[in-house]
Amino acid sequence: MFDVIVIGAGVSGSAIARQLSRYNASVCVLEKCEDVCEGTSKANSAIVHAGFDADEGSLMAKLNVKGNEMMDDLARDLDIPFKRNGSMVVCIHKEELDGLKVLYERGVKNGVKGLKILSREEALEMEPNLSDNVEGALYAPTGGIICPFELTIAMAENANVNGVEFRFNTRVEDIKKGEDGLWHLRTNNGEYKARYVVNAAGVYADKIHNMVSADKMHIIERRGDYCLLDKQVGGYVSHTIFPQPTKFGKGVLVTPTVHGNLLVGPTAIDIENKEGTATTAAGIDELQAKASENVRNLPMRNVITSFAGLRAHLERHEFVIEEVKDAPCFIDVAGIESPGLSASPAIGEMVGDMLKEKMNLTEKENWIGTRKGITRTEGLSVEEMNKLIKENPAYGTIVCRCESITEGEILDAIHRPLGARSLDGVKRRTRAGMGRCQAGFCSPRTMEILNRELGLSYEEITKSGGKSNIVIERTKGEV
Ligand SMILES: Cc1cc2nc3c(=O)[nH]c(=O)nc-3n(C[C@H](O)[C@H](O)[C@H](O)COP(=O)(O)OP(=O)(O)OC[C@H]3O[C@@H](n4cnc5c(N)ncnc54)[C@H](O)[C@@H]3O)c2cc1C
Repeated sequence: MFDVIVIGAGVSGSAIARQLSRYNASVCVLEKCEDVCEGTSKANSAIVHAGFDADEGSLMAKLNVKGNEMMDDLARDLDIPFKRNGSMVVCIHKEELDGLKVLYERGVKNGVKGLKILSREEALEMEPNLSDNVEGALYAPTGGIICPFELTIAMAENANVNGVEFRFNTRVEDIKKGEDGLWHLRTNNGEYKARYVVNAAGVYADKIHNMVSADKMHIIERRGDYCLLDKQVGGYVSHTIFPQPTKFGKGVLVTPTVHGNLLVGPTAIDIENKEGTATTAAGIDELQAKASENVRNLPMRNVITSFAGLRAHLERHEFVIEEVKDAPCFIDVAGIESPGLSASPAIGEMVGDMLKEKMNLTEKENWIGTRKGITRTEGLSVEEMNKLIKENPAYGTIVCRCESITEGEILDAIHRPLGARSLDGVKRRTRAGMGRCQAGFCSPRTMEILNRELGLSYEEITKSGGKSNIVIERTKGEV
C-alpha cells in the first residue's frame, strides 16, 4: 500500500518520482523491465530542444521551454553531462525561407531566448559542413545535448535515495478501484494498492488509461531509426542540424552527442506495434538520404550501430497530463513524445505540484537534492589517475578498451542505489560497450564482474533482463 504509485520508470516516471521524493509520502515506481530507462527514454535524439517547434500556448511548448531552462541546474545537481551546443534549422530551398520566420516567431512567442535567423554565409561560417545548397538557418543558442540514460538514471537514483521504492520486472496487468477507495493494481508480482496512480507508461499509456476509463485513448507508435557514428567523426558538426519540420515532426537531424559521437536520424514511420524497435534497411537508407540534403559528405562509413525508438504519438499531438475525468485520483502522463526528454524536469514538477495540492503533501526536512555521479577516469591526468588507482586499484584495470572504462567505474555502477544488474545496465551507466566494437571485447569481462559481484551465474546474466541471456549452457562441463 502506497500513497502514490507511478507506472513506468522512463524519463517521465523518474522525474515525477524525484519530485515526489521531496514530500512526506510513500511512493513506489512499478516498472515492467529490469531497469530504469528501458522504453523510449533509451532511444531518442538526446536533444534538449529550445522550444520553437511546439504550437504556441500548448502544454508541449510550455513544458519544453521550462524543462530546457531547468536543465543546467538539474545537470549540476545530479552530476550528469549537459552541453548547450546550440541548434540550427537549415533551409535549402529559397522559396521555403519564410518557414524559418514562422519558426522564429513561434519560438519568440513560446519564450525561447536568443533566436536568430542566419544568412547563408553566417550559417556556413558557423557550420562549414552544411550543404552547399543552404539558403539560411534559424539559430537557437539554448538548444542542447544530454545523455538520456544518465538523466533518467540519475533522477531515479536520487528519488530512491530519498525513499522512493522501485519494483522492477513488475508489469501492471489490471487496475480496479476497490471498495476501500484505493486503486488495486494487479501485477505479475502480486497486488499493489495506492491512493493515487500516475500513468507514465510511455507507448503503453493508452493500455493503462483504458484499464480505468470509459473514454478510450489510442497511442500510435511512430518509429524513428538512427545511425550512431564513431567518435572519430564526432566533430563533423558542432551544432544540432535540423531540416525544416513537417507534419511528421522535426525531421532527420545530424548532431554531436554529449559523449562525442555523431548521431543521424530519426525517420518517422507509423506502426501499430509497441515493441517494434527493429531498424530496417529502408529506414536507414531514408535517413541517410534526408540527412545528406543538409550536411555534405556525411561520413556514413563510420556507423558503429543502428537503433530505433518509438514515439508515443496521440492524434492531437499534445502532452496529456491531467487527472482522468471518470477516474478520480488517477493521473495520466500520456502522449509524451518529443520534446518529452527536454520537458521531463518540468513534467516532474507539474505532476509533483498537482499531487502536493490534491494530497496536502508537506515537504521533507531532510530531502537530498544532489547526487554524485560515477567517478569518470576519462580526461584525468596521469597524476590524477595514479592517485585514484592508489586509493582503489580497480581503477587501474581497463575493461572497455574502446571507451577506456575501468573496473572501478563498473563496480561503482553495480553497487550504487538502483545499481546495474545486466550488461546494458552497466553500459548505460558507464559507457562500457558503447564504443566502436559495441561490447565485442568487454562483454565477457563485464560478465565476470557481474558474476563475482552479484553472485549471478553466467547463465543468469542477461543483456537487458527478461530472456536476453547470453550464455545458454556449458559446452564442456565443469573444469
Ligand atoms: C525517435 C525519437 C526521438 C526523440 N528525440 C527526442 C529529443 O531529441 N528530445 C526530446 O526532448 N525528446 C525526444 N523524444 C521523446 C522522448 O524520448 C520521450 O518523450 C520520452 O523518452 C518519453 O519518456 P516516458 O518516460 O514518458 O516513456 P518511456 O521512456 O517509454 O517509459 C515508459 C516506461 O513504462 C514502462 N511500462 C509500460 N507499461 C508498463 C506496465 N504495464 N507496467 C509497468 N511498467 C510499464 C516501460 O517499460 C517504460 O520503461 C524522442 C522520441 C523518439 C521516439
